[in-house]
Amino acid sequence: MSQPATPNPAGSKEDDLLAASKGVWVYLEMDRGHVHPVSWELIGEGRKLADKLGVDVWGVLLAPPGAANQAAANDAFAHGADGVYLMEDPILADYRTAPYTTGLTKLITTYKPEILLLGATTLGRDLASAVATTVATGLTADCTGLAIDMDTRSMAATRPTFGGSLLCTIHTLKARPQMATIRPRVMAMPPRQEGRSGQIVPVPLGMREDDIITKVLDYIADRNTNEAHLEFADFVVAGGRGLGKVENFKLVEDLAKVLGAEVGGSRPLVQGGWIGHDRQIGQTGKTIRPKLYIAAGISGAIQHRVGVEGADCIIAINSDPNAPIFDFAHYAIVGDATKILPALTEAFRRRLSAQAN
Ligand SMILES: Cc1cc2nc3c(=O)[nH]c(=O)nc-3n(C[C@H](O)[C@H](O)[C@H](O)COP(=O)(O)OP(=O)(O)OC[C@H]3O[C@@H](n4cnc5c(N)ncnc54)[C@H](O)[C@@H]3O)c2cc1C
Repeated sequence: MSQPATPNPAGSKEDDLLAASKGVWVYLEMDRGHVHPVSWELIGEGRKLADKLGVDVWGVLLAPPGAANQAAANDAFAHGADGVYLMEDPILADYRTAPYTTGLTKLITTYKPEILLLGATTLGRDLASAVATTVATGLTADCTGLAIDMDTRSMAATRPTFGGSLLCTIHTLKARPQMATIRPRVMAMPPRQEGRSGQIVPVPLGMREDDIITKVLDYIADRNTNEAHLEFADFVVAGGRGLGKVENFKLVEDLAKVLGAEVGGSRPLVQGGWIGHDRQIGQTGKTIRPKLYIAAGISGAIQHRVGVEGADCIIAINSDPNAPIFDFAHYAIVGDATKILPALTEAFRRRLSAQAN
C-alpha cells in the first residue's frame, strides 16, 4: 500500500502541505450502527480519483466502540477502500458537531489527505462545513461531478450555480484537503468485491465529555410513516405542472401503485402544495437513480434534469413535442398526460395480472 499509516511529515509552508498531502478519503457516515449508503457511492467515486492520482482510498469512521465498526470497515474494503481510520470513543455515540469536528480535524492534520469526500446529507453538510472552516480549506458543496486535473493534480469539483442554469468547476489549489460534498445517488453504487481486505488504523479522539457543551438528552425517531424514499426507489412516477390541477395527481399515484413505484414531482407541485418537499425531484429536491422514471407533464428544466439523469430508463409524457425533457428521455410519449397516465395504468395492470396468473 503506498499511503503510510503513520503521520506524514509536518510542513510549515503551503507548498510543504501540498507535497505532504496524499490519498483520497471518504467519510463513512454511521448513525446508530448503520452506514449511510452514500458512503459506498463515494468510495466508488474516490477509487476513480485515487487511481488517476496513483494513491489509496481510505474510509474515515468516527463511532462509539462496537462490533458494527469492524463490519463497516469490511464493507468499506468490499466497496473499494484500501484502509480505514477508525476513531472509537463513547463520546461519539450521537452526532454532535464539536467532537466530530475535533476528531476529523485531528485525523486530517495528522495524516494529511489530499481529498476528502462527504455525503451531502444533513450530517455531512454540517460536519464538512465545520471541518473546512477549522482546517481553513476549500469546500465545494453539492457536487454533481468530480475529476482530476492532471496538470495541477487538483480535484475538479463541478456543481450547479446561478440557480442551476450553469455548471461551474471549482479547484482548491492552495489548501489541503480539497473537500467536496455529494448528494446520495448522484454517484453510482460500486459493485461489492467480496474478499477484499484492508488496513484498519485506530486513532484516539482524546476528548473528555466535560469539554463538550452540547448534550443529547433524547433521540426521537421520525414517526412519519408516509416518508418518501425516492433516492433508493427502483421505480419512480412523477408529475409536473402539465397535469393541470391537483386532482390529476391521483393519476400519477394510480400508476405508481400498480408499478410498486414511489411518487414524486417537480418543484411547482411542491410550491403549490400538491406534494410535500420530500417528494420534490431535482436540484433542490431529491436526486434519484431508479431503473425506471416516468415523468408526466414535466418540462425537463435543468434543475429537474440534474436530479433524474442517473435513471436507467426515462419515459416522458408531454403534450409539447419540443419539450426539453425529450432531449434526455429514452422514450417520448407526445400527448395529454391526463389521458395517457390512466391508459398506462390499465395496460400495466392487465399485463401484471396476466403474468401473475
Ligand atoms: C434555484 C432553483 C432551484 C430549482 N429546483 C428545482 C427542483 O429541484 N426540481 C424541479 O423540478 N424544479 C426546480 N426548479 C424549477 C425549474 O426551473 C422549473 O421551473 C420546474 O422544473 C418546472 O416544473 P414543470 O416542468 O412541472 O412545469 P412547467 O415548466 O410549467 O412545464 C409543464 C410541462 O407540461 C407540459 N404539459 C402541459 N399540459 C400537458 C398535458 N396535458 N399533458 C402533458 N404535458 C403537458 C408542458 O408542455 C410543459 O413542458 C428550480 C428553479 C430554481 C431557480
